[in-house]
Amino acid sequence: MTDQVTNKQAPIVRVSGVEKRFGDLQVLKGIDLDVYKGEVIVIVGSSGSGKTTFIRCINHLEKIQGGRIEVNGHLIGYRERNGRLVEDAESNIARQRCEIGMVFQLFHLFPHLTALENIIEAPVHVRKVPRTEAIETARTLLARVGLADKANAYPAQLSGGQQQRVAIARALAMRPSVMLFDEPTSALDPEMIGEVLDVMKELAREGMTMIVVSHEMGFAREVANRVIMMHEGRIIEDAPPETFFTAPKHERTAAFLSRVI
Ligand code: ADP
Repeated sequence: MTDQVTNKQAPIVRVSGVEKRFGDLQVLKGIDLDVYKGEVIVIVGSSGSGKTTFIRCINHLEKIQGGRIEVNGHLIGYRERNGRLVEDAESNIARQRCEIGMVFQLFHLFPHLTALENIIEAPVHVRKVPRTEAIETARTLLARVGLADKANAYPAQLSGGQQQRVAIARALAMRPSVMLFDEPTSALDPEMIGEVLDVMKELAREGMTMIVVSHEMGFAREVANRVIMMHEGRIIEDAPPETFFTAPKHERTAAFLSRVI
C-alpha cells in the first residue's frame, strides 16, 4: 500500500523524544516517530515493552514527562508557556482528542446505550453535531462495519467482534485524522478476529492513517507500510514489512519473530 502514501509534506502524527515514567519505572525512553497521511504503522514487541503506554500517550490518556506529541501540527495535552510545556486545560484536550480515534482491547462501549447511541454520543455532545445528522452518519458507519441491522442492540446483545466493530464505528464518527488501535483483536475469540481485521483492512485501503498495536503478524505483513519493534521502551526497528519480516536489522527483532511466527 506504499503507493497510497503520497503526502510527505507534514506528518499527521509527530512524536519527538517522548519519555514516560510510572513512579521510578521508566517505560518510554525517548520515542521518536513521524507518521504520514495514509500510513499504517503496526507496533509489535514483547509484553511490557511499552506499546500500550506509548499509544495511550498519543491521545493523552497518559501524561508524559519528556518530549512532545503533535497531531496535525497541534500539540497534544500540553501548551507552551515561556518556552516550557504545561498541561493544557481539559476542554482543550477534549478538542484535541477529536482528531484522534481510539479503539481499545476491551471495546469500552457504554453498556446502557444502544450501538447507535454509542456512536452518536461524542459527535452530539463534544462536536455539537445536530442529532439527526449524527444519526444519519452513525447509520452509514454501522453499514460500513457490517452492522446495519444492529443499530438498536445493546452491547450485551452483541458478540465481541460486533462490539469491536461498533467501537470502530464510534471512533470514526468523530472524523479523526488518525486512528489508534490498542490490541483490538486480542480479547476476541479466534472466529471473530477476522471480521474486525477485515474492517481495519478496509479502512487502510480507504487511506486512513492508522497506528496499530497488534500481535497479528499476518495483518502487519499484509497491511502495514511500516512495522515498528519496541523493546524496553525504545523503538529498535522501523521498516517496511518486506524488510522487517525477512531481514530485520536488530537481533532482538529476529529473536522476537522466531518466537511469534
Ligand atoms: P506492552 O503494551 O508492550 O505490553 P505496557 O505499555 O502495557 O507494555 O507496559 C509497559 C510497562 O509499564 C510494564 O512494565 C507495565 O507493568 C508498566 N505499566 C503500564 N501501565 C502502568 C501503570 N498504570 N502504572 C504502573 N506501571 C504501569
